[in-house]
Amino acid sequence: MAMTQALFREDAYLREAQAKVLEVNERGGIRLDRTIFYATSGGQPGDTGRITRVNGEVIEIAGTIAGETKDEIVHLPAPGQPVPGIGDTVKLEIDWERRLKLMRMHTACHLLTVICPYPITGASVSEDDSRVDFDLPDSGVTKEDVSAKLMELVAADHPVSYRWIGDDELAANPSLVKSKNVRPPTGTGRIRLVLIGRDGSIDSQPCGGTHVAFTGEIGDIHIGKIEKKGRENRRFRLRFGPMPA
Ligand SMILES: [Zn+2]
Repeated sequence: MAMTQALFREDAYLREAQAKVLEVNERGGIRLDRTIFYATSGGQPGDTGRITRVNGEVIEIAGTIAGETKDEIVHLPAPGQPVPGIGDTVKLEIDWERRLKLMRMHTACHLLTVICPYPITGASVSEDDSRVDFDLPDSGVTKEDVSAKLMELVAADHPVSYRWIGDDELAANPSLVKSKNVRPPTGTGRIRLVLIGRDGSIDSQPCGGTHVAFTGEIGDIHIGKIEKKGRENRRFRLRFGPMPA
């Protein structure tokens, strides 16, 4: 089966694109030859938006998920939407306001792992509240201190860039992987590193999500809470806006 070209991986700022319909599966999921819709993965939720047919019919997309493999991207229409024809050329639009918030949050999660360099046991990004869980017996850190350090990295407006590496290079640099339980997919031969700072001077780690181009775009952000989740787990909750007084 032909693969979907993941345009968001090369340019996370694409809000619109054209594509061809490859398949509509038995549950109505739409597969395209290329897409700007990010599929739920790595703690970042999939995109919502619209697919418009040449005849002007609009198909509201309620979510985007990976198919049987991560290279398959399935667009899930809301109930009662028109069904496109195979081979149709369609116009894609994502809900940009929502996506930009997710990009800002997701990038902030990377910065948090710079300030808290502990093994990550879980993460979930959402529009207004995200969480990162660390294997951390006793935090000894305060939300005020972590928030201030986060804002220093935001204010420095570090560039965010990408570099593709092979499985062998990742295997030779195991310290690149910060997740304790989740390993990046290997065996495909190509892994994308996300670099923060010039040449990754601040951070570099494998990630397939969408990020802002400069850390300054994150804007005001703070740690709302540090929760104890089990003996060796601390959950950090990230929220937009300045630290409440
Ligand atoms: Zn990421």
